[in-house]
Amino acid sequence: MERYKWNIKWIGTQSLNKNRVLLDLAGNAEVNTPMSKSNDSTSPFSRRKDTRLVKVGKVEIGSGRSIAIQSMAATKTQNIEATVNQIKLLTEAGADIIRVAVDSKADVIALAEIRRRTDELNPTISVDLQENYRLAAEVAPYVDKIRYNPGHLHHHEKSKPIKDKVAFIAKVAATHNIALRIGVNCGSVDPQKLLKFGADDVGAMVESADEHCAMLENLGFTRYVVSLKDSDWRKVVEGNRRFSEMRPNVPLHLGVTEAGMPPDGVIKTRIAFEQLISEGIGDTIRVSLTLPFEDKGQEILAGQEILSDIAAGRFRSVPPNFDEGLNIISCPSCSRVENEAFIELAQDIKVITKFAEKEDLTIAVMGCRVNGPGETDDADIGLWCGPTGVNLKKGEELIGHFSYTEIIPRVKTLLDKTISEKS
Ligand code: SF4
Repeated sequence: MERYKWNIKWIGTQSLNKNRVLLDLAGNAEVNTPMSKSNDSTSPFSRRKDTRLVKVGKVEIGSGRSIAIQSMAATKTQNIEATVNQIKLLTEAGADIIRVAVDSKADVIALAEIRRRTDELNPTISVDLQENYRLAAEVAPYVDKIRYNPGHLHHHEKSKPIKDKVAFIAKVAATHNIALRIGVNCGSVDPQKLLKFGADDVGAMVESADEHCAMLENLGFTRYVVSLKDSDWRKVVEGNRRFSEMRPNVPLHLGVTEAGMPPDGVIKTRIAFEQLISEGIGDTIRVSLTLPFEDKGQEILAGQEILSDIAAGRFRSVPPNFDEGLNIISCPSCSRVENEAFIELAQDIKVITKFAEKEDLTIAVMGCRVNGPGETDDADIGLWCGPTGVNLKKGEELIGHFSYTEIIPRVKTLLDKTISEKS
């Protein structure tokens, strides 16, 4: 695997308060204008692509505006109290946009109440539609943006053409005066594209995004942003570079999905953002970390710190062996998490696999059945969580379903076996 060569010096950490005070290299402070297009031709931001402006509620994305920082409520949407608290916590941390997942009509009813109860905070809310694209019409009155995943549109109404489903979503967005995000993930890319591209999953991801841009634009709908995500920062960098060359005017939402736990999850994300943003690519970001619910504000703080460092030219050196050894990826959790024991499980997996830290293997730990099965396919060992147990996989093969108390020794045994098969 080709490794990115870092030849930049370590400059150090500049932590931020929630007002996002930026310090330039001379120590001059600039308040609340992170990542605006700079007139200084030596600034990493002087090269920002001239993307079009997309309004998401009160937030403006693209066209050289400040890079908006997003996060997502990790709680079950129907747990109204907990989700309201997540929105308060993320707003307090400085989130510009907060995403909430909606999978059912009961979630829509909860979302309406959540919106009502957070009115005084005036949050900018995006909703994540996974498989159930038809809920777009019901959630639209309560949100500022809808994210749909092109790779999930085939699940419902299988005989209906994808372009008709996209037309439905676009019409809903236009009627309610809200924005869209075409959110493509390498791990859940449109199956037709995977067939066409085979091992080039980045190519499949880029073509899928491009095709959906064309569908929206043919409908005259241009108020959208695009994201191309993967848990491997290299694929995030490559996919966004390729897409940005094809459609330089489309605002991009950057993120390394399932980056895992801090500090590794932050480092992977930082590597991708440093490369892309300093090339002028990226208009809004999300740092996805596996964290206890009460610590989700750390996603925003990590995003602020990364953006601040890039703005000031403080690129981090990365240890040359950072990408070597055991790679544990885990999702940031969201409303779909089947059992909150998932977060503890992800943390335990990190502890019990320490003995194998030098092994070049990937373990993926996912929180639900929606993305879990697909997102674990590429890992050497995959775990995806259900309400009462965990599905254990070796590559694409399902080994079995085990209770939360049984799973740890099973993973250890499977890891031992996988290591001995490799040697
Ligand atoms: Fe949410 Fe499932 Fe993705 Fe985890 S894997 S973030 S629980 S959709």
